[in-house]
Amino acid sequence: MLDKEHPMKPSILLTDGLSENGQAILRAAGQVDDRSGIPADELLGTIAQYDALIVRGRTKVTAEVLEAGTRLKVVGRAGVGVDNIDLAAARARGVIVVNAPQATTISVAEHTLALMLALARRIPAADRSMKAGEWAKKRLIGSELYGKTLGIIGTGRIGGAVAQRAAAFRMKVIGYDPYLIEEQIRQNGAVPVSLDELYARADYISLHIPLSEQTRGLIDAAAIARMKPGVRLICTARGGVIEEDALLEALESGQVAGAGLDVFAQEPPGATPLVAHPNVVAAPHIGAQTREAQARTAEDIANEVLRALRGEELRWKIV
Ligand code: NAD
Repeated sequence: MLDKEHPMKPSILLTDGLSENGQAILRAAGQVDDRSGIPADELLGTIAQYDALIVRGRTKVTAEVLEAGTRLKVVGRAGVGVDNIDLAAARARGVIVVNAPQATTISVAEHTLALMLALARRIPAADRSMKAGEWAKKRLIGSELYGKTLGIIGTGRIGGAVAQRAAAFRMKVIGYDPYLIEEQIRQNGAVPVSLDELYARADYISLHIPLSEQTRGLIDAAAIARMKPGVRLICTARGGVIEEDALLEALESGQVAGAGLDVFAQEPPGATPLVAHPNVVAAPHIGAQTREAQARTAEDIANEVLRALRGEELRWKIV
């Protein structure tokens, strides 16, 4: 623990990298070891030396890691989703878990709109055909976002930012979020509806929910069957919220006309039939991969982890 009167430099381990601006903040206060990509067994062997661990999505902070981390005071997630951290085990061991939930919102929202536009205007197919020396103008008929209904499942930070941007395209935005009151959903830019109504009305459905036991497999065959035929699905949340076999079947039948996927049940997924499907625009989990989001995330998580080590009040304490 950092003690203001008897400062002792804490040891901080990075296992998934961190932008230089965040590392500089940490170095000013402690000893920083950048071991990006460290395998799970080596992490288990070395974690006992550290007061703080900063991860992104790759490192699995399991109960074993937390148990081996006998000095560990805080785990920082440089980003939003904490589904790679065993929160119950952290709570049981008194290890603080913090994240940087605001830093990536704009980048993920912009990426979501990029996927919607890529699907609507078939940009990846257009680019592929040009690079093959073709001029596929007649074949590449697209559609407008204008006037279409966008159903947002999870109208929190990112869902709200997507709603605002979709409104600028003059889409009708409806939203479902069982944990927000209707007024909050409205403030976040969507007209509140039930999940059934959202499925029945939406031309585009975009998922902005965390992966949890409640949301795992939310978009399964039964849910897809309740959607409008020809719906387009966008997922920049987490892979596990969609049952990928059901989605592939629906793409093949035409029930789902297109899918923009940034996240997959298993990452990397490889060239699966889902990734290879012509009506899928796939990206390798790059929602937060912008210079701006990474710099903001690094600054936020570095400061929050140092606050945790100093015993100060926290802005984004999860556990
Ligand atoms: P947030 O907490 O602000 O919003 C999530 C919303 O989902 C909340 O309002 C919550 O009430 C709602 N929700 C929870 N369960 C629900 C359910 N069953 N049905 C409908 N709504 C439900 O989080 P955020 O910052 O908007 O991030 C959303 C998710 O985006 C994260 O959990 C993360 O998994 C994902 N994400 C992905 C990337 C990426 O790189 N693609 C980057 C950042 C975040």
